[in-house]
Amino acid sequence: MIDEDRQSAILNRPKAELHTHIEGAAPPAFIQGLAKEKNIDISRIFREDGSYDYRDFVHFLSVYEAATSVLTGPAEFARLTTAILTEAAENGVVYMETFISPDFCGGSDVAAWKEYLHAIQDAADAAQRDMGITLCGIATPIRHFGPDKAKLAARCAAETAGEFIVGLGMGGDENQGRQGDFAYSFDMAREAGLHLTTHAGEWRGPQEVRDAVEDLGVTRIGHGVRVIEDLAVVDMLIEREITLEICPGSNVFLGVYDKLEQHPIEKLRERGVKVTVSTDDPPFFRTTMRKEYADLMRVFDWDAEIFDQIDRNTMDAAFCGADTKARIRKLLEAS
Ligand SMILES: [Zn+2]
Repeated sequence: MIDEDRQSAILNRPKAELHTHIEGAAPPAFIQGLAKEKNIDISRIFREDGSYDYRDFVHFLSVYEAATSVLTGPAEFARLTTAILTEAAENGVVYMETFISPDFCGGSDVAAWKEYLHAIQDAADAAQRDMGITLCGIATPIRHFGPDKAKLAARCAAETAGEFIVGLGMGGDENQGRQGDFAYSFDMAREAGLHLTTHAGEWRGPQEVRDAVEDLGVTRIGHGVRVIEDLAVVDMLIEREITLEICPGSNVFLGVYDKLEQHPIEKLRERGVKVTVSTDDPPFFRTTMRKEYADLMRVFDWDAEIFDQIDRNTMDAAFCGADTKARIRKLLEAS
């Protein structure tokens, strides 16, 4: 174990993360406050201590949808953006990519989606100015809403591809349908110049990850950790330089692995997979980037050199434009 000074230097490093969900990063107190303002009763989704309350992944998705029900318009998403970026900046995050679903932002209507994005981007610009944190958005079809809804979401993404919306990334229940069912949407996004990622290999095994790469042509995978169950697929990821957006705290909290000690992030890294570290839905999983770093140091003895490698993997795979990449790389390297 490295000494205390080095440990705190690592915890205080500027950090970048690629895998968060805008609503999932919502501090519970913020959601509760909004619900009160709007007289919406969602008290059932909170524990007495004010944290989110759910039993398992499917229940988590329904709590998640209840929490998002108070986010009724662009103004609420702007306030949400400020709340999550404040929290992330306090944990040293200087660059964050977040999944934003057109389904939850205007029902996948392009004009409405643009209004939401405008509000979110204004809040993100202010956060960059005031707190030095940069946000980019990944438009997110929800897998369990099906391929037809995904097409509408992808169309929203394609219409707004640019500096802020930099990618398309599917979320939702991995056990519904197949990756290939969504190929049309991913093709549309690719043609619009967007980068591609999808959740895979969290609840289903390595075949799902292979499908994501072969059927959708993604360059990153959300989670992807269960790829460790088939080394041939692991080696395919290495060969094609696919980056995994790994969220160790999320995987342990939701029971993909009982303990961080059993998590394959270190084995994947050692074998040569490009791994990165993110928080996913931090308040839902009682985590922060600082906590992720502390846990990785404690369990896997990760030192500054390994975190340097994580930074390089992260910025190589980041979906933002070249200018932003260069600027963030400098911030990370200064640490
Ligand atoms: Zn996720």
